[in-house]
Amino acid sequence: MKILVINAGSSSLKYQLIDMTTEDVLAKGLCERIGIEGSRLKHRPIGKDEIVIESPMPTHAAAVDLVIKALTDGDYGVIKDMSEINAIGHRVVHGGELFNGSVIINDEVKQALVLCSDLAPLHNPANLIGIEACEKAMPGVVQVGVFDTAFHQTMPKEAYTYAIPYEYYEKYKIRKYGFHGTSHKYVTIRAAEMLGKDINDINIITCHLGNGSSMTAVKNGKSVDTTMGFTPLAGVPMGTRCCDIDPAILTFLMEKEGLTAAEIDNILNKKSGVFGVSQLSSDFRDLSEARAKGDEKAALAENMFMYAVKKCIGQYMAVLGRVDAIVFTAGVGENNAEGREMIMDGLEFLGAKIDPVKNNRRGGEFEASADDSKIKIFVISTNEELMIAKETLALL
Ligand code: AMP
Repeated sequence: MKILVINAGSSSLKYQLIDMTTEDVLAKGLCERIGIEGSRLKHRPIGKDEIVIESPMPTHAAAVDLVIKALTDGDYGVIKDMSEINAIGHRVVHGGELFNGSVIINDEVKQALVLCSDLAPLHNPANLIGIEACEKAMPGVVQVGVFDTAFHQTMPKEAYTYAIPYEYYEKYKIRKYGFHGTSHKYVTIRAAEMLGKDINDINIITCHLGNGSSMTAVKNGKSVDTTMGFTPLAGVPMGTRCCDIDPAILTFLMEKEGLTAAEIDNILNKKSGVFGVSQLSSDFRDLSEARAKGDEKAALAENMFMYAVKKCIGQYMAVLGRVDAIVFTAGVGENNAEGREMIMDGLEFLGAKIDPVKNNRRGGEFEASADDSKIKIFVISTNEELMIAKETLALL
C-alpha cells in the first residue's frame, strides 16, 4: 500500500511517497518556482543522492507530471508505474467550520474548499490547484484532503469566539480556527503511546515551535484551545510573525507611518517576530550564536519567545486542570535543548521538572523530564506527511 502525500503551495509542490506497510518514505522532493522562470525539481529517492532536474514548470499540472516521471524513472525512480500508488493525501490549510476531519475529495468537497478560500487566500487556492493537477495526471486514484484546521474543530465556543461584535462571526466566520493541526494530532497520538494510555484519557500541552509556532491544550485527546487564531499570525512570537500584540498598534502605526493595509500586513507577517526584535535573523541558531557574542537584541528576542511559551504553558495548565505531559516538537522544539530548559525553568512548582542531562539531545523521540517530575516532558519529532498518509489510509 503506497500513498503519495502532496503539499502544494502557490509556487511550490512538496511530495513524499510512503510505503504504508512499513511506514518507510520511498522518495521525497520539492518542485520550486512553479510558474516562474528557473523552475526545478529536487528529487530524493531514499538511500540515494538527491537529483536536481531543471525543467520548465509553467503550471502545477506540469509539476505533477514531472514528479510522476521522477517517481517512475528507470534510474532514480522508486516504482514501476503509477498504478502502484493507491491514494493521494493532500495537505489543505483551511477547512473552516466545514471540515472537522479528513475527507475523500469529490466535486462537493472541492466546492467547499473554494468557499474556505476566503479564509486562506494564499493557501487554499494553491491546495486546490494541486488536487486538480493530480486528478488530471492520475484519474481514478482516490484523493484525500487533510486539513490543518480540522484537529482544532473540537474547541469549545468560549475558546474560539473573539470579543468583537458577534455579527462578524455570523457574516464572515471570524473566529479562532487554529493551525498545525496535523502536527498537534501526530504528537498527541505518539504521546499517548509513550504514556501507555488511551488517547481519550490524556491531557497534554503540545508545543509546535518552529519558524511558525503554535501551542495546543489537548483534553482527553482533543484540542480544546490553541494559540493560532483566525489566521496563522496569532499566538506566540514566531520567526517573522508578530503574533499576539495589542491590535491598536495596527491603526496607530498605519496613521503614524502612512501605511496601507497591505504594507502593515507585510510588516506583521514578514518583518516581525524574533527577526523584527533581533533585527538579525528569524533562525534561532543565529540568535543563540549572536547572544553568546553579547548581542542584546538577539538575547531579547530569544527571551521574549521563551517567556511567551512558558506563559502559555501556565495558561493551558489552568485550562486543562490535570496535565500528563508537555510535548515539544518542530525545528526549535526538537532541537533547541537550551530553549526547552529556559521554557521549563521555574515551572517545577506546577509539577513539571526537566532533567538537563536527559534533555541534552536533539531530534528523535525521548523523555526529557526528571524521574520525580509529575508531568512528563517529551520531545517528539513531528511527521505531518506520515500523519496525512495515515489519515488517507484510514479513509481507504
Ligand atoms: P521548522 O519551521 O519546524 O522547520 O523549524 C525551523 C526552525 O528550527 C529554524 O528556523 C531554526 O530556528 C530552528 N532550528 C532548527 N535546528 C535547530 C537547532 N539545531 N538548534 C536551534 N534551533 C534550530
